[in-house]
Amino acid sequence: MARNGIHHVTAIAGDARRNLDFYTRILGLRLVKKTVNFDDPGTYHFYYGDEAGQPGAILTFFPWAHVAPGRIGVGETQETAFRIPESALGFWTERFVAQAVSHEAPRTRFGETVLPFRDPDGMRLALVAVRGAENEAGWTGGGVSAENAIRGFHGVTLMLDKAAATGAVLTDVFGFEQVATEGGVTRFRAGDTTVGGIVDLNEVGGFLPGRPGGGSVHHIAFRAEDDAAQSAMVEKLAKGHGLRTTEQKDRDYFRSVYFREPGGVLFEIATDVPGFAVDEPADALGGALKLPRFLEPHRARIEEALPDLSPVTASVDAA
Ligand code: ZN
Repeated sequence: MARNGIHHVTAIAGDARRNLDFYTRILGLRLVKKTVNFDDPGTYHFYYGDEAGQPGAILTFFPWAHVAPGRIGVGETQETAFRIPESALGFWTERFVAQAVSHEAPRTRFGETVLPFRDPDGMRLALVAVRGAENEAGWTGGGVSAENAIRGFHGVTLMLDKAAATGAVLTDVFGFEQVATEGGVTRFRAGDTTVGGIVDLNEVGGFLPGRPGGGSVHHIAFRAEDDAAQSAMVEKLAKGHGLRTTEQKDRDYFRSVYFREPGGVLFEIATDVPGFAVDEPADALGGALKLPRFLEPHRARIEEALPDLSPVTASVDAA
């Protein structure tokens, strides 16, 4: 079993409750961890994924209530795509219409049918119909049946001024290979990795740089099996590409280093270990607010400052 590909994608959202509602109720993903931004504990950090919270299926958000919208441009992630079974395309198209989710007509890319859509903050997302995905287990707790459920990430598209140096990092350090080109887009695939195995580089020389904000991707994390594999990647980045990473940071559910890749996108290398079941049982993932040990003494104050997540219910009381 290959251990390459995307570990998680982290993005910026506005309202926390709206974000939680969209990803769990409309897309039917599992909230696998509810914690805070370790560097900014007044902000939630939500992790959405599949039933087990496996690497390659994790989309995370920092919701900042009053964040200004981002603008797409070079040095940024242009689109984040999920995998669905081919037979689920009709279901999702109808669901997006019924739930008033902003979406476009399906189109073909690299021989696959792609349904682009946006989240409430304008984040660019897509569902990609993948043959055989119906044979993989799907999480049903979010109210979407197993036959239609999302099966982790398909991959990401990066918008770059020039793609070559980024492609070299993908192939040399992260175990991807260049497999196809279509227009200005070059596709890289991580061996036989199914979930999170695709990175498309869209070379658009001369375009404006992106501006981070609501609906923008903050960073893309790639998988390392363990600390040793991560160290080997750090060494390759330094020796082969002249790229320096941060020191390792303990994120409780994985251990991470960060670096800015040559095209300007923030990359992370995250270990597969220890995973999301380290501080709550696998069948109760996302149920309670989890804090890192150093913030636990401040729990009462943190809980009080965090935004209310209780569902909005229509009031029928007379004024
Ligand atoms: Zn991350």
